[in-house]
Amino acid sequence: MTDFLNKAQELFPYTQTLRRDFHQHPELGFKEIRTAGIVAKELIVLDMEVTTGVAKTGVIGLLEGAQPGPVILIRFDMDALPVTEETGVSFASKNTGTMHACGHDGHTAIGLTVAKILHAQRENLSGTVKFVFQPAEEGTCGEEIGGAEMMIREGVLDSPKPDYALGLHLWNEKPLGWIGAAAGPVMAGAEEFKITVAGVAGHAAIPDNTIDPILAASHIVTALQSITSRNVDPLEAVVVSVTMIHGGDAFNLIPSEVKMEGTIRTFDLSVRENVLRRFDEIVTGIAKSMGCKVSVDLKQLTPAMINADQIAFHVQASARKVLSDSDLDTASQLTMGAEDMAFILEEIPGCYFFVGSANDEKGLNYGHHHPKFNFDEQAMPCAAALMAEAVTRLLKGNS
Ligand SMILES: [Zn+2]
Ligand SMILES: [Zn+2]
Repeated sequence: MTDFLNKAQELFPYTQTLRRDFHQHPELGFKEIRTAGIVAKELIVLDMEVTTGVAKTGVIGLLEGAQPGPVILIRFDMDALPVTEETGVSFASKNTGTMHACGHDGHTAIGLTVAKILHAQRENLSGTVKFVFQPAEEGTCGEEIGGAEMMIREGVLDSPKPDYALGLHLWNEKPLGWIGAAAGPVMAGAEEFKITVAGVAGHAAIPDNTIDPILAASHIVTALQSITSRNVDPLEAVVVSVTMIHGGDAFNLIPSEVKMEGTIRTFDLSVRENVLRRFDEIVTGIAKSMGCKVSVDLKQLTPAMINADQIAFHVQASARKVLSDSDLDTASQLTMGAEDMAFILEEIPGCYFFVGSANDEKGLNYGHHHPKFNFDEQAMPCAAALMAEAVTRLLKGNS
């Protein structure tokens, strides 16, 4: 029997060196050129068949086991954020204004560690492991679509087509030693909306000669909150948030238009349909009733992330085996945050799990995307061991 946790701990210096190097040289979405170069080099050393330049900077590595079997895709994201680092660590970002503030430096290092572990275990592998190092998880970075969607468009789910998919996130909302692997929905589907309310500008002292888009927009903002309180089952999780509102530039002038932006988050498909319908009815109905013209631009960012029951149970069994001391949480941690691995899990049954990485004593407990975000690096061997075990067991089919 292979002790994957021991293996991962032996490899810790390798993992840590990689992670700190990626941390010092963070790259934004679709610009992970240096990172992808290191990833490709490390995979080629392991004799993998490597494809680079998928969705600009994505890298795919194929590891063939000694025996035939299913194909399992494991995905790690590589991109950093436009954040100015304030951690003060010795390996802080050298690219001012760009920072690995979500932990994707750790994910990339974990992925390469899993590659090393599984490569050494090829004799015990029945099937193919498709390592996917993905660009641009954090957003579309000026492109029409983000990294996962673009990799799918460029064939990451074809030849060979994966039978299963796994992904993970280091999770600073929970302490080191905590593992979250739940069946069913885990992260929300996200939409982005843009609304332009157009009226007729004029002097504020003669409002009857104007059509006031600020008044109409205000009613819209208020009425949109009735969707969650009056149109959705109170036990369903839904968010409708207007997060930007711009209009006017003089105290005595009613402007001609107001622009608003925001986001909608849902888990359930039929709930989503209902929310989007009410959203449109409220926005267009109120604008019309107040004499304004309105345009609504609604874009789906990601679908909801739904873990397949059987694969989630499999990950849970793997955690019980390799991380027997860990605090395994199988209840869904439903978060309204979104994650573009959901596009992959929409096509392939799989599981996206969380690995606790906070450490209060060491002050490593800032939230994801915070300028002081940093995680306990001991979470990396835990994550690598769990991923290696889950892959090996899934390929053997012994859940
Ligand atoms: Zn993030
Ligand atoms: Zn992230």
